[in-house]
This record gives sequence, C-alpha cells and structure tokens, in this order.
Amino acid sequence: MASETVRIMCPNLTCRRILAVPQSARGKTVRCRNCGTNIRVPQPAAPAPTTPGAATQAQPQPGSPPNQAKPAA
Ligand SMILES: [Zn+2]
Repeated sequence: MASETVRIMCPNLTCRRILAVPQSARGKTVRCRNCGTNIRVPQPAAPAPTTPGAATQAQPQPGSPPNQAKPAA
C-alpha cells in the first residue's frame, strides 16, 4: 500500500507553501516548516453531520420497492 499524503497550503499569505502530510495527520495540527504557522489538517471530505458519531444514514436497498405513493386497494 502506498502511503498517501494530504496536501495542504499554508494559510500564511506570505508563505503559501504546499505541505504534504501523512493521512494519519488528519485532524491534527502541523507546523509549516517555512514560516512556523500552525495548520490544521482537514478531515476527509464528509457531509459533516451536526451530530458527530451518529450512525450512517440508512441507504435505500436495491430491490425493495418504495413503500409510499402506493394506492391502497
Ligand atoms: Zn508557511
């Protein structure tokens, strides 16, 4: 497995250096080696629910017809 890295740009406008940090650094704070600014490594792209740790949304399963909009005979 190749170790993937996360590329982030230094928020310091006078620096703007691209930093490559390991995936394990997500959610943590790294320091720019160029200017010393602390940069928070963003988490993986996620919908970011208001309730952290919530269970995953129930996805519609293939094959099961929708149980609505059905005329009651
Ligand atoms: Zn920097």
